[in-house]
Amino acid sequence: MPDQLSSALQKIKTDAETFLQVEIKPRELRVEAGEDPDQVAVEVREASKLAGYFYKTQPEAYGGRPASVLELTMLRELWASANAPLTRYIFGPGPGLLHHAQGDLKSAYLDPLLAGTRRGAFGFTEPDNAVRPTWAVVENDSLMITGQKSYVTGGETADFLSILVNVEDPSGKKLGTAMVVVDRTAPGVIMDSTFSSMEGGGHASFRFESVRVPLWHVVGELGEGMPRALANIGNVRLMVAAEAMGMSQWAIRYVAEHLLAPHRTGTPLGNKEGVRLRYAELRIQTFAARSVLYRAARLVDEAENSVNEVIAAKVFCTEVAGSVVDWAVQLVGGQALVVGHPLESLYRRVRSLRLVEGANDLLRLNLAKGDLELGKGRL
Ligand SMILES: Cc1cc2nc3c(=O)[nH]c(=O)nc-3n(C[C@H](O)[C@H](O)[C@H](O)COP(=O)(O)OP(=O)(O)OC[C@H]3O[C@@H](n4cnc5c(N)ncnc54)[C@H](O)[C@@H]3O)c2cc1C
Repeated sequence: MPDQLSSALQKIKTDAETFLQVEIKPRELRVEAGEDPDQVAVEVREASKLAGYFYKTQPEAYGGRPASVLELTMLRELWASANAPLTRYIFGPGPGLLHHAQGDLKSAYLDPLLAGTRRGAFGFTEPDNAVRPTWAVVENDSLMITGQKSYVTGGETADFLSILVNVEDPSGKKLGTAMVVVDRTAPGVIMDSTFSSMEGGGHASFRFESVRVPLWHVVGELGEGMPRALANIGNVRLMVAAEAMGMSQWAIRYVAEHLLAPHRTGTPLGNKEGVRLRYAELRIQTFAARSVLYRAARLVDEAENSVNEVIAAKVFCTEVAGSVVDWAVQLVGGQALVVGHPLESLYRRVRSLRLVEGANDLLRLNLAKGDLELGKGRL
């Protein structure tokens, strides 16, 4: 196996598989039967707290019991391989951009975020028609923010937004970027539109018209915005890669069952050599991509510079998963395209992974720069 897990990690994985069977699967059935998903999600969170999974993404300083990147990667892949929507409630919210927030910022935003009582959303992407990127002018002990953010996932229901702004003083002198926390209902914050994307996510676009926020809403220091926005991006990209590999595995299992089942031709599809060739290719691609995923996770845990390897994992795993799910649809046939079929929704979800957390071609450019200009990266 490409994952080569220690016996301790293998035990964690076996326990997690039991957790999926005992705590998630029956609740999925209840949601499918019509029960309120929000209520069932509360139960999942409670079960996850009891089993300890909830705290694995949270820092020790806040009562968390953080797991290694390898363990998180293994678990994220496993949750995704169940293809069960409720798995998204197993891990507790991580600090994300508010990592290391201190004082009032910690008590007003980070603590409730980690406790799950307040929700945040991230505003980074600017609309294509923006005249200038969102900016903030320092005025005494506050910032005056003007601009737009186009694609804020969860923005409609979030309590606050963490947004990237370009800071300047009243004379227009540039002071760099900053990550700033803005209450979603603060005066001047206007939600222009809400929309959903094909994978099922809900998003909002916002306008900021002279929104005044106190300086203590700046995460870290003025000028640190971009590094802070990108500080956690490696972990998020690895998370995307792990989810992609979980999706691939679910699709392969589904295809295998289909190939072994009776077929109208009188011979299971899996008996046809041409079909077997295609099926083998799904397994080969997934085996290779999982090897990339686990190698990258180990490098991160060893605190090696692994920016380029994480990029390679995100790009490779999401593209392999896209191809695997695409071929799974082909091998299962027309029924896989019927709205409501599990492969139909998986196809939509896997597609988004090549754009989120860095469009794949932009990541390729970063990787090339990492090698050609910075001398970083391994083969
Ligand atoms: C499901 C989902 C959730 C999202 N959630 C959030 C969120 O919570 N917060 C947030 O701020 N944003 C979010 N986004 C936005 C996401 O980060 C952007 O869509 C992504 O970064 C691409 O930016 P863009 O859409 O403006 O495309 P563009 O930047 O316009 O790029 C479009 C395409 O052009 C090509 N391209 C662009 N520049 C180059 C170049 N220099 N060289 C080569 N090719 C290039 C690439 O193929 C790229 O995919 C989300 C997007 C999706 C799909």
